[in-house]
Amino acid sequence: MEEQEIWKNVLGDIELQISKPNFLTWLKNSQLVGLNKKEGVVMVGLPNNFAKEWVKSRYHKLILTSIRNLDGSIKNIDYVVINSSHVGIDDKKITPTPERGTPQSSLIDVKVDPKTNLNPKYSLKNYIVGSSNELATAAAQAIIKNIGKKYNPLFIYGGVGLGKTHLLQATGNEIINHYKGSVSVLYISSEKFINDVVWALRNKRTDDMKKKYRDIDVLIIDDIQFIGGKAATEQEFFYTFNTLYENNKQIIISSDRPPTAIPTLEERLRSRFEGGMIADITYPDYEMRLAILKTKAQNQSIFIEDSILEQIASKVQRNMRELEGVFNKVVFYEQYKNQKIDSKKLDEIIGEAIQITPKNITAGDIIRIVAEFFEVPMADMTNKSRKQEIVEPRQIAMFLMRDVLKLSFPHIGEKLGKRDHTTAIHACEKISQEATRNPSLNQKIMLIKERLYKV
Ligand code: ADP
Ligand code: MG
Repeated sequence: MEEQEIWKNVLGDIELQISKPNFLTWLKNSQLVGLNKKEGVVMVGLPNNFAKEWVKSRYHKLILTSIRNLDGSIKNIDYVVINSSHVGIDDKKITPTPERGTPQSSLIDVKVDPKTNLNPKYSLKNYIVGSSNELATAAAQAIIKNIGKKYNPLFIYGGVGLGKTHLLQATGNEIINHYKGSVSVLYISSEKFINDVVWALRNKRTDDMKKKYRDIDVLIIDDIQFIGGKAATEQEFFYTFNTLYENNKQIIISSDRPPTAIPTLEERLRSRFEGGMIADITYPDYEMRLAILKTKAQNQSIFIEDSILEQIASKVQRNMRELEGVFNKVVFYEQYKNQKIDSKKLDEIIGEAIQITPKNITAGDIIRIVAEFFEVPMADMTNKSRKQEIVEPRQIAMFLMRDVLKLSFPHIGEKLGKRDHTTAIHACEKISQEATRNPSLNQKIMLIKERLYKV
């Protein structure tokens, strides 16, 4: 049976066994991206990390049983993230897509070391340094040579797609290489950290968790802004932080904004962060953007005319992920489809690639994305309907308006069908409290935020 046929069959099977919303949310955009017959391992791709973790923890058994019914030689499943929202189960076979790059590079996530969560594709060698990130890079370099002694914690902040994750991961990799593995490093996203804490609290395993983090020499936490406002997580983080800090272990943190601008962050954590080194990453200038593109082309041994690269660099200014997205699409058209890119086509590609960033998210975006996520009519979000299935989406929308946009409660009530400000306060408090206790709600919020930020 063809690989994609297998996957279609598996999905058909699972669709019958789980609820429709769950199927649509978690599995609709999954695909089979590889099959290693010799080892009996299939590789299943999900569009993002949350979906990957979720599917792995919830549906692994179901998928494995179903797939083994079709091919008894399959023993295990690896889950990987594929960066494509456009490729669905209808694709007959795995073709290179602009977002995914070549099939080889789509499997690059497989190389993430499960012990450190570091992906070797990120290195300082392929990190372009310019005035926008030189302070942050210099601080990271100083840390590599003086772990725990020089800048502790190092707090790096900057907008979406400006290279925070790249720098954090590269620093981790560099430390592993420099100390030949004798220093233990752990990279973790704050989503993952929150999930760990929630899981440990529920299963009364906080001691195990403390032990796990205590044994680390360098702890790297990405996107810490998501921790703010989650009391139990902040408390655990504070303990972990202090234990590491007091033992001169290195802590590196990233955030999309400075500590002072994370409104819900506990004061004691904020002052801890401010006690170290804070470095920002701002927008790279044209030269730097062009250098990023040229390095990418060079590393992949791809030839794209300078004039095209220059146009991309001059037009895509605010997000390096979008810059790469445009580059990948151009490569896709030119290399795989043999289609020459002219200015008109390039503008089209750029138009598709440039997404909303947190800077211009509106209350309307939140309502739309929440409604899409829960597959409820947008109109129901703002009318007087008290249908059960609309209550949670509406409350989540209110919570996000507060959390992301910092809107006032009366304003939030107004946006969601002229409701009273006390309704908005109640919704925000309820969701924020419940999210610390209920991992499923927490996951939903993270996923919606991810869609919102278009990370
Ligand atoms: P952030 O974590 O700040 O949202 P990322 O680190 O994920 O951003 O960067 C987005 C993409 O842009 C990544 O693929 C990264 O490799 C690339 N990138 C960002 N900054 C640079 C840089 N200075 N040099 C090379 N690549 C970069
Ligand atoms: Mg990041």
